[in-house]
Amino acid sequence: MTIQWFPGHMAKARREVTEQLKMVDCVFELLDARIPYSSSNPMISDIIKDKPRVVLLNKMDMADPRETAKWMKHFEAEGVYPVALDAKNGKNLNMVIKAAEAVTKEKFERLAAKGLRPRAIRAMIVGIPNVGKSTLINRLAKKSLAKTGNMPGVTKKQQWIKVGKTLELLDTPGILWPKFEDQVVGKKLSLTGAIKDSIVHLDEVAIYGLEYMQMYDLETLNKHYNITIEENDSYLEIFDQIGRSRGMKNKGNEIDYESVIELVVRDIRNAKVGRYTFDRVEEVGQPDETE
Ligand code: GDP
Repeated sequence: MTIQWFPGHMAKARREVTEQLKMVDCVFELLDARIPYSSSNPMISDIIKDKPRVVLLNKMDMADPRETAKWMKHFEAEGVYPVALDAKNGKNLNMVIKAAEAVTKEKFERLAAKGLRPRAIRAMIVGIPNVGKSTLINRLAKKSLAKTGNMPGVTKKQQWIKVGKTLELLDTPGILWPKFEDQVVGKKLSLTGAIKDSIVHLDEVAIYGLEYMQMYDLETLNKHYNITIEENDSYLEIFDQIGRSRGMKNKGNEIDYESVIELVVRDIRNAKVGRYTFDRVEEVGQPDETE
């Protein structure tokens, strides 16, 4: 599903998340581990403010593990608690609960000191479309038994999902808009499936992905498509070789570039060729800088 974001939508999304934030003790900011910078909302720090935050690097199964480790260190250095996870296959779900406990520890100690009865930690998930918010909510919901009661005083009825003994999660995530000013970010969002075809030209997305693999993982690229690309070959040469190797030809026996492009983008989106991280810590620096 592609959502076209207009200023009105953004304002509404922000308002809704701000409303929901009032009900929670901490926020899970869900990012795509392959693009931790590009998949963050450009105003996220502004929206979350000083609410305790956990960064969830989801889809770790498709990201380069070495790069994920670097991103984890980076977030830690920034004072943000990171967890790498794979919501689809239910990896590291317990660490999500642990993280929520860690970032709210002080607050609950303060409450306890005032003599308040202990209660579950309330949290919500926010993130741009397609980073895996619903998948994670469903996963966490399965870990638990039932939904708890409604929250009174909220226009839309919010349900809390009990996760283990210590956590309650809002059943609706906060959906925020992606970055879309920057061309390269757009290509990365498309390459990972965060935004769908129409917005960014697919040929540019395929070229970006191919050149990335040519630069960082040439051997795997050659092996996967059974081709013999060299370091300095042009993207046209790569298209041609893949087309020939896969028998993607038009009636006139010419390479069917459209099919090659679709194949390449689909393969990269699903991590069929290899596990790649397209945002590098060294290059993007601040992960949550406002654009
Ligand atoms: P939402 O828009 O943020 O709610 O995203 P969804 O939960 O609908 O997930 C978008 C797509 O990503 C779906 O096809 C999910 O199966 C897939 N997905 C979610 N989490 C993971 C993950 O950790 N690993 C992989 N490989 N796919 C995932």
